[in-house]
Amino acid sequence: MGRIRVLSDNVANKIAAGEVVERPASVAKELLENSLDAGATEVRIDVESAGRRLLRIDDNGIGMLRDDALLAFERHATSKLSDVKDLLAIATLGFRGEALPSIASVSRLQLETRAQEEQTGTKVEIAGGKLLRCDELARTVGTTISVRDLFYNVPARKKFLRSDQTELSHIGSLVTHYSLAHPDKRFELYHEGRELLQVTPVATMKERAFQAFGAGTMEHLVELEKQAAELNVPVPYAASRNSDPDAEAAEPSRFCLEGLVSGPHIQKLNRNSIFLFVNGRLIRDKLLLHAISTAFHNLMPAGSYPFALLFLTCDASEVDVNVHPSKTEVRFRHGAFVHDFVRDSIRNTLTHQRPASSIPFPAQSPMPARYNESADREPISRPFIAQQAPNLPFSEFSRMLDAQPAVERPSELRWEQPSARAHTNGGLPEIRIPAVQPVAHGFESQPLFEPKPQPPAIRRVPDTHGTLHHLPPEWEMVDSLAALPDLRPLGQLHESFIIAAGRDGLWIIDQHVAHERILFEKVLRQRAAGTAELQQLLSPIVLDLTVGQHLEYERIREELDAGGFETEPFGQRSIAIKAAPAGLSTGAIEQVIFEILEIAEQEMRGASLDNIRRDIAATIACRAAIKVNNKLEPEKVEYLLKALAQCEFPMTCPHGRPIALRYNTKDILRSFHRI
Ligand code: ADP
Ligand code: MG
Repeated sequence: MGRIRVLSDNVANKIAAGEVVERPASVAKELLENSLDAGATEVRIDVESAGRRLLRIDDNGIGMLRDDALLAFERHATSKLSDVKDLLAIATLGFRGEALPSIASVSRLQLETRAQEEQTGTKVEIAGGKLLRCDELARTVGTTISVRDLFYNVPARKKFLRSDQTELSHIGSLVTHYSLAHPDKRFELYHEGRELLQVTPVATMKERAFQAFGAGTMEHLVELEKQAAELNVPVPYAASRNSDPDAEAAEPSRFCLEGLVSGPHIQKLNRNSIFLFVNGRLIRDKLLLHAISTAFHNLMPAGSYPFALLFLTCDASEVDVNVHPSKTEVRFRHGAFVHDFVRDSIRNTLTHQRPASSIPFPAQSPMPARYNESADREPISRPFIAQQAPNLPFSEFSRMLDAQPAVERPSELRWEQPSARAHTNGGLPEIRIPAVQPVAHGFESQPLFEPKPQPPAIRRVPDTHGTLHHLPPEWEMVDSLAALPDLRPLGQLHESFIIAAGRDGLWIIDQHVAHERILFEKVLRQRAAGTAELQQLLSPIVLDLTVGQHLEYERIREELDAGGFETEPFGQRSIAIKAAPAGLSTGAIEQVIFEILEIAEQEMRGASLDNIRRDIAATIACRAAIKVNNKLEPEKVEYLLKALAQCEFPMTCPHGRPIALRYNTKDILRSFHRI
């Protein structure tokens, strides 16, 4: 007898469960996706013991016919595919027919369901993959699936589960994010009877985000309004010769992107706060993650990541979702196009909306500096509302999606300007602004705001779920740099920072990074137009390079020269610099060249020409910009503010440091107890 035998279905299901069912949240994901595929408009999830003891999902979808209710637990039984051709354009979240049998093989599962076409419903009970009973049942149309005692028969898996808080947090994050993908549906999540999320149908994703995250978090995010792109796919050669009229009428492929992203002042240490949906499916995708990083290139320090929630929709045939058993990876047919579309949409949005950094200020509750010092999660009492900044809960689900075993780490929210954080003194908020030297002119003693006898009627924004929060419109533009063009300079602080009054508050601008940004954009503009300004050196500067530096030099020489240098090889490993970009002092020229070569060596191997060009511009700008500890004439201050306002991207310097902090009027009023 041969040694190979076919595995029993039960064993095969358990193997599949190993891939599909990692933890309670993965059960929730599969069941939630099934409910959405079944057209449910209301989904309620009840959890006990963070999903270990019970995870029950109840939907008002189309339900299952009696025969289907049993068939659904067979391996590869699905109503969503019938032909291999269907695999080329999958429009449903499920298609593998693996989830129900897999879950049923590692738990005690009960299914109650009824389809519209039948008068009675069906109840099926299965434990460890074995059918226990199947009865008739009276119930409404829809489906309820209860999964009890997950992994009761797989103790090894059970051991890998984390604390209740962590597991629950994963479930919470999952349901929250799916609810964002379906604002028109109702979602409820309860843990042992306590409501964790309850959102009613709304018209837009933004309104849903208000419901799920609260106004506090929304203040830190900018909306990426619907962006669309079309790709004209050439008619394949064979098809174009074919007389089939359908083949001739090749429609362009349409892509659409919307979502929310944080401004560059929210900097996270990893990608856990990036949530990507492709055609309503939550996924992890290297290509899209790369597009996001590229969009933030030169806006954030290397190794920092934003918060992003993006919904990409495209023709189902443009994306292959049959890549991984848990359906968390995709492959795009036109990857490069999608990449650039996502990158440019984010860049354009940031350029357009100019999100500003506010001075972190403990108005009512202290700023969560390190959200959680302990290894475990934030208390679940405020699970999905990040009050001051998008924080931990968003990061949960992605960790589940990452292939590596979950490593517990405290929150990684990092603010770029910790030293600017307001001090708390004996419980009283205090912001220290030392004496300001007045600028000789340009200061009119016009009041910042008209004092009102009564505080403005601000409806306090309760951080509760389920209701839509509205702020009075005058406070709504708090996170934009719209006020930049009409700032009034008040003076210079420590000969390093410009203090200015704006219509929305008090501004502090770092003079060095502001100038750096101005020069960076100027150098890039001139580079694009081929009009780099250069200065001829009286005598060439000769630099001796290492072998590695010389190789890099040869690789990027053309870019260097186009960027305003004139260089040529000089002997074996030396180069002679005959001209350099205007504005660089002789001493700085040498430094700039070495810095550029170092960046080229360390970071940019394989980097795109565009990034190299930007990094060269950033290095030149940094060296040529005015320094801190430098007294500025009023004219210079005015010039800086004006030029900054005209920048495409006045939020951060090319290395990602913030340029301007604003102490907004609302916080000023709050601090003086005027509201
Ligand atoms: P898949 O989703 O890949 O088809 P599953 O194992 O998740 O595979 O589900 C098997 C089948 O059971 C589905 O194709 C669907 O017909 C049916 N089904 C599962 N959940 C529901 C539900 N909540 N409502 C209606 N039908 C469902
Ligand atoms: Mg499914």
